[in-house]
Amino acid sequence: MLVSNLSRYAYPELVDQPLRAKWSRLSSFAEIRWTNPREAISLVCDKTAQRWHQCALLGLLAHEMSHPCVSTSRRAEERTDLDAIERGLGVYLAAERITTGRYRDQVVGRGRDRYLGYQTVREYLTQHETKQLDRLLDLLKIVPSSYGVSLTETIHDTAIGGDCQAHVGGYVFQGVTILPGSSVKLLVREDSVALYIDEKLVAKTHIDSQD
Ligand SMILES: [Zn+2]
Repeated sequence: MLVSNLSRYAYPELVDQPLRAKWSRLSSFAEIRWTNPREAISLVCDKTAQRWHQCALLGLLAHEMSHPCVSTSRRAEERTDLDAIERGLGVYLAAERITTGRYRDQVVGRGRDRYLGYQTVREYLTQHETKQLDRLLDLLKIVPSSYGVSLTETIHDTAIGGDCQAHVGGYVFQGVTILPGSSVKLLVREDSVALYIDEKLVAKTHIDSQD
């Protein structure tokens, strides 16, 4: 219901698209897959998000639904976040970032992409949206704080577009197949990122060799 309401009010280009959404156990908070050209979209959310406040869940869904609408390999996570904000969903995105412990931007690939943190999302909000966000945080009894929040290597989300391009936690991997239900892990080192699917190393990206 949340997904169909979101399409109706904020993603008109997705209204007539077959979009399946379901809950499952994932190694990230969410996973979205779409075909190229965009025909079928499948969205899966991890069951941990069932316990979130609905506003935070809406923020997660907004980020995911923006992925196929933005469909770019460069700075995909940042553009996806900005797209959700432009559609008037920034308040929800801010609530999601607080819930997932992302107070500050989560920079990936030495600054090549980033997930906007709560602080930055807030800067993009209109005055009216900022007031709405403050009212929401008041209601949830949340005081946003950068203290005590450690940015773990938890993968925020996985977006898999039509041309075998996978964005895993903001890192781009070409030509990898990630079957639904696989366990996905990233090993982020100073100069490389390794992608493990079902405990097997399937791809390694050298950060310096990316263009
Ligand atoms: Zn994403």
